[in-house]
Amino acid sequence: MPIAFDNSYARLPGRFYAKLNPDPAPRPGLIRLNHALALKIGLDVDWLASADGIAMLSGAAVAEGSEPLAMAYAGHQFGGWSHQLGDGRAHLLGEVMGPDGIRRDIQLKGSGRTPFSRMGDGKSALGPVLREYLISEFMAAAGVPTTRALAATLTGVRVQRETSQPGAVLVRVAESHVRVGTFQYFHAREDADGVRTLADYVIDRHDPDIRQVEGRYRILLDTIVERQAQLVAQWMGLGFIHGVMNTDNMQIAGETIDYGPCAFMDAFHPGAVFSSIDHGGRYAWSNQPGIAAWNLSRLAETFLPLLHEDADKAVKIARDSVGRFSHVFNAALNDLYRRKFGIAEDPQFVQATFRAMTDCGVDYTLLFSGLTRIALGGDDALVVDLFHDADRGKNWLAAWREKHDREKAHTMITVNPIFIPRNHRVDHALKSANDGNYKAFEELLEVLANPYDAREQFEKYEAPPKPEEIVHQTFCGT
Ligand code: AMP
Ligand code: MG
Repeated sequence: MPIAFDNSYARLPGRFYAKLNPDPAPRPGLIRLNHALALKIGLDVDWLASADGIAMLSGAAVAEGSEPLAMAYAGHQFGGWSHQLGDGRAHLLGEVMGPDGIRRDIQLKGSGRTPFSRMGDGKSALGPVLREYLISEFMAAAGVPTTRALAATLTGVRVQRETSQPGAVLVRVAESHVRVGTFQYFHAREDADGVRTLADYVIDRHDPDIRQVEGRYRILLDTIVERQAQLVAQWMGLGFIHGVMNTDNMQIAGETIDYGPCAFMDAFHPGAVFSSIDHGGRYAWSNQPGIAAWNLSRLAETFLPLLHEDADKAVKIARDSVGRFSHVFNAALNDLYRRKFGIAEDPQFVQATFRAMTDCGVDYTLLFSGLTRIALGGDDALVVDLFHDADRGKNWLAAWREKHDREKAHTMITVNPIFIPRNHRVDHALKSANDGNYKAFEELLEVLANPYDAREQFEKYEAPPKPEEIVHQTFCGT
């Protein structure tokens, strides 16, 4: 057996999923295999790159030991309830145990219709597959918990979007694909057994130490809240805007999932939003912590019967648990900005900085990478020139210098990336790939694999877009 699948989710009751095979891909082709990830999770790289391996990675063939299934879930999308969502274009092939003792899902995304497809065609176009590959691998390299990209493949079938595009599959690796929306699915059906079974499954998989502990569901809820608070703080620090923080896109293990219309801001603005379908700015950069807490409240509702037999006491426990979000988030964020600026914790200074950055169109990533370079002896112009108003830039830098602690310069390097997946670079890479040229994609991937290391030959990737290069909108690509 080339891959030692062990499929715990497939052993859950039948109402948790629909078992079915991916659509056969008539002409499977490998675009990119993630060797480093394959090794990390204990897979045989040579087999994956073989014809049989590529057949599995594109959905053309079902490997021995794989039990493909589409997971059932529901969710709140932009605040509105959807009673049934589920994997409409994804197949969980199975799970593998890594040499690190971590169990991981291997899932195909873009692999055909399922009972959860509704009106969709079950496919993915090449662009969104490569986009998820680039950005999720950047997140991993930047140290942010995320689902990952094991491979990108071609199916040989074209898919119709605004134009006809090559059909592709992303092979996604996750610590599990259980979402807030998975709990909501059972809760909405008044399936208390389903909720409990799922909670026990999650405990077994992610927090086995608390399996026998009294009050374990409360601890589980606390842990999920804590993981999300830490995660969203990291997003904020990178200027990352997820774009579709629906409850079905919030994963219980605390990894970033679903890279549909996400984007990183160039010029700082707290209200930055890129997704073409986010008209009200619900998922704007500065709204993300509030939305995460809202989603966690929806999760906590599903937990109530598990928390206490007395309904009032259960509500109190749930409130306290979700209430910890803002505390954990603020502590994490303050600590992160302390390190990013190389100063003692100072939320007021951070807020004043954000106001100046907004007023003066300062690039978020360049401010921090510039400061890091100044802290290591670089020229003031690296930061001053980022401000449209040079006097304001000089004054701000002087204020920073008063607070800056030289000892902290080395910490700054580790939290201030030099490279991020800038929208215009991603766009260019995807457009070239659609024309059959993967050079820009491959190079961008190489740049993003080491976001904290300056490399002379990649200097152009540090730059923000020229006015005519700015990408104003991103699309789900569904
Ligand atoms: P997303 O916006 O990717 O989080 O997807 C929301 C829901 O729509 C999920 O149930 C997806 O499986 C489903 N979906 C998205 N795109 C497609 C598609 N092309 N075909 C079928 N279902 C889809
Ligand atoms: Mg989704």
